[in-house]
Amino acid sequence: YSGKSGTQLLAEKINLLTVQKYQSIPVVVTDSSSVYDAICMMFLEDVGTLFVVDHSSNLIGVLSRKDLLRASIGKQMLESIPVSIIMTRMPNIAFCFKEDLVIDVAKKLIEKQIDALPVVKTVDGIKYEVIGRITKTNITKALVDLANDELL
Ligand code: ADP
Repeated sequence: YSGKSGTQLLAEKINLLTVQKYQSIPVVVTDSSSVYDAICMMFLEDVGTLFVVDHSSNLIGVLSRKDLLRASIGKQMLESIPVSIIMTRMPNIAFCFKEDLVIDVAKKLIEKQIDALPVVKTVDGIKYEVIGRITKTNITKALVDLANDELL
């Protein structure tokens, strides 16, 4: 008998939940896309956060629903505004790696008051290629798995 309490065992299970297992496919647009294109992409792909990448899939920005709504309030032509002028850009983007713990992603989402993080891998030690997406919905799924004791 291990002598571990129920909460200790639960904590151990929580610390086995990695981004790798719970991440989703990222939905991206390039920095030359218009705000109009980004709105279409958000609806078509049914996501709340888009990642802005260069032609090598390297992370350069993030677009949320409110970023796109804000840009749509003005009288400007949405086809003529590039996403690069409204996105949140590097180095102000919170991101994670596939080896990271889901619980650490949850802490970051709360701390930064955001809905999603891009999952990245380092390229040449300076750039970050977008390989996934982890959102509050993915974390809710992890919680349900814990309750159902469906780990491992
Ligand atoms: P919404 O705008 O729909 O409430 P969020 O709360 O996710 O969605 O986004 C709030 C703000 O934070 C937006 O301006 C968005 O660009 C920015 N943001 C979203 N995700 C990230 C992230 N991973 N890192 C940094 N900023 C982010």
